[in-house]
Amino acid sequence: MHLKTHGIVLGQTPFGSQDKMLTLLTSDQGMITAIAKTPGRKKSRLSAASEVLAYSELTLFEGRTHYILDSADLENNFFKLREDLGKLSLAGYLCELTRFVIPQKETAAETLRLLLNTLYLLEKGARPNDFLKAVYELRLMCLSGFQPDVEGCAGCGETEGDFWLLPGEGVLACKDCLPDFLSSAEREPYRVPFPQAVRRAFFHVIQSEPGKIFSFKLSSDAEKLFADAAEAFTIFQTGGKFSSLDFYHSVMG
Ligand SMILES: [Zn+2]
Repeated sequence: MHLKTHGIVLGQTPFGSQDKMLTLLTSDQGMITAIAKTPGRKKSRLSAASEVLAYSELTLFEGRTHYILDSADLENNFFKLREDLGKLSLAGYLCELTRFVIPQKETAAETLRLLLNTLYLLEKGARPNDFLKAVYELRLMCLSGFQPDVEGCAGCGETEGDFWLLPGEGVLACKDCLPDFLSSAEREPYRVPFPQAVRRAFFHVIQSEPGKIFSFKLSSDAEKLFADAAEAFTIFQTGGKFSSLDFYHSVMG
């Protein structure tokens, strides 16, 4: 059975002596793996479409255990990202994180659109790397069923003032309630500063329509805290260890 869909390559590993196993995020099937056979005359086209970050219209053949990539029309490979190691390493992390959360069929189309928009803005240099990273992390977490509760303090319901985000719990604590959270936990919970500007940014990313997710601005101080909070939330909620994230940080210093 043949399947036509759009998809982006999130990862590739050698398969057998000559073929490649691709991890694809597709708009119709969610995340799938597909074998890209070393082709004869179709070689250059399929090879280009098998590279990480290649976005194509794909024709897949449904085999017994795997999909097999039959043909591909490359639409974008975000080539300019390769000219900037910081951007390229961030794109690598976005792919690794996406593979880790395994987007399901139901949210695949929106996740794919989010990833494409993020890569497009990253390639253009339209917004700072850390801003794009934070927006992607937070919205991806929401699409994957991990949504932080930023309505107010989880202890007393206060909505004014500055908070702490407890990323493992996905909740806020005000300064009056924080000692209770600290004393009731077995281990002192990790926490990050969460002022109102960051809370507004989180609200925006959580609630926005897909087309407006990136349409907000922050001061550079708030942007740094926003990025720290989104990353801490992502790491604590997934429990993931991402070598590409460590690499990104080492590149960006
Ligand atoms: Zn409180």
